[in-house]
Amino acid sequence: MTAALDAGAERLLALDAAHAWHPYTSTLDRDPVYPVRGAAGCEIELMDGRRLVDGMSSWWCAIHGYNHPVLNAAATEQLGRMAHVMFGGLTHAPAVGLVERLVRLTPAPLQHVFLCDSGSVSVEVAMKMALQFQQAAGRHARVRFLTVRGGYHGDTFHAMSVCDPVTGMHGLFERVLPKQLFAPVPAPRFGQPCTDADIAAFATLLAERAEEIAAVILEPIVQGAGGMRFYAADYLARVRALCDRHEVLLILDEIATGFGRTGRLFACEHAGIAPDILCVGKALTGGYVTAAATLATERVATTISAGTPGTFMHGPTFMGNPLACAIANASIDLLLARDWQAEVAAIESGLAVGLAPCRDLPGVRDVRVLGAIGVVEMTDPVPMRAVQRRFVELGVWVRPFGRLVYLMPPFIISADQLVQLCNATRRVVAELGAGRLAAAAE
Ligand SMILES: *Cc1c(COP(=O)(O)O)cnc(C)c1O
Repeated sequence: MTAALDAGAERLLALDAAHAWHPYTSTLDRDPVYPVRGAAGCEIELMDGRRLVDGMSSWWCAIHGYNHPVLNAAATEQLGRMAHVMFGGLTHAPAVGLVERLVRLTPAPLQHVFLCDSGSVSVEVAMKMALQFQQAAGRHARVRFLTVRGGYHGDTFHAMSVCDPVTGMHGLFERVLPKQLFAPVPAPRFGQPCTDADIAAFATLLAERAEEIAAVILEPIVQGAGGMRFYAADYLARVRALCDRHEVLLILDEIATGFGRTGRLFACEHAGIAPDILCVGKALTGGYVTAAATLATERVATTISAGTPGTFMHGPTFMGNPLACAIANASIDLLLARDWQAEVAAIESGLAVGLAPCRDLPGVRDVRVLGAIGVVEMTDPVPMRAVQRRFVELGVWVRPFGRLVYLMPPFIISADQLVQLCNATRRVVAELGAGRLAAAAE
C-alpha cells in the first residue's frame, strides 16, 4: 500500500507515527493506520485512492453515511449565524429545537434534557443525577450503582466503574475506581423469554443491597463494546419492575442503541419501558461532531431541584453547542423523514442471510444479528492487524475487537454494498478458521 502513497501521505503518516496517540494504542508498538482523504455516502476513500465500503458507521455514529448534503447544509447555515455561545444565561433555537425533539421522541416520562459533550460525560451526568436525587430524597447511604457484567459505559472514571470488570479497566485503576455491584450477564437472548431463574441473581443482589444503591445502569437490549450481546426484552422489563419495587432509579445508556440501530428508535421500546434517566450520544449528530444528552423524568428533576443545594451540579463549557445542536436537529429530521425502519429491516435480513454461512466455519462460536448490527463471534481472539489489513485489501472497512468481527453499517448502505461487506466478512472468517491469517502476520 505504501508504494502508492504520495509524498504528502508519507509525511502525514510519519508525523502521525511521531505524535498522534490513537484509541487504545501504544506509542511504541504502533498499530498501522490508514490515511483517509475523504468519505461520502457509504464509502471511505483512502489517500492512495482506494475506496472502502464502511461497515462501522465510525463506531455507531454515521447512520446517514458521510458528507451528507442535508447535514452539510445545516452545519454551513449554522456557521453563518454562530458556531458557539455559552449556555449559561443564554439560549438559542438549535438547543431548544434539540431538547424539544428529544423529549418528543423518547419515552413520555422523560421531560428534562441536559446537553453535554460526549457519551462518557452523559453517563457521568446521569450517575451524578442519580446521586443528587437520592441525596435530595434523604437517602444518603444510596451511593452505589448496580449493573450487569459484560457492559460498556465509557472511559471516564465513574463510567469505567460500571464497565465489565474483566474486559473493562478495573484491575488497572483498582485503587481509584469506585466499587460497584455486578450481576451476571443477562442469560436469555433477545427473542427468548426471561424466567424467574434468569433474573434471580440480579433480583437478589438488588433486594439485599437496595439501601446502598442509587441506581441500576444498563445498556438496553444490546451490550455493545463489552461483547456485542443481545438480551431478552423481558429481562429489561423485569429490571424496571424490580427498580420500582426497591425505589432504585433506572439509568438506560442508549448511546450505542439510540436512533434506530436495533430496529426501534430507542432500544427500550422493545421492552415497552421507560427509564428514569436516559443517555444518548453517538448517532445523535449523525456522526458529524461530538454531542450527547442526558434526559431525566419530571420526578428526578424536581427532587434534585427541591433538594440541597437546589441546583444540578454540572455545566460543561460547550454545553448546548449551537453547531452540534443544529446538525443533530437536521440528522433527527432526516432520519424521521426517511423510512428508516425499512432500511434497518433490509440491513437486518441482508446481514442474516450474508453472515449465516459463517456458522459452519471452523473457529466460529456464534453468529447473531439484530437490527443493523451483525456479529460473528470467534472462539479465539482475532489477530487484529492482519484481519484489518485483509479487510482493506477486500475493499471494506471493518475493525474487529477481541473475539468479535462485527458489522454496523450506515442505514443508507446499498444492497450491493451490504453483499460486499458480508462476502468480505465470510472470506476473512474462513481464512481465520483455516489458520491463514495467523498472529504471525501481526
Ligand atoms: C460509546 C459508548 C459510550 C461512551 O461514549 P463516548 O462518546 O465514547 O464517550 C458509553 N456508552 C455506550 C453504550 C457506548 O457505546
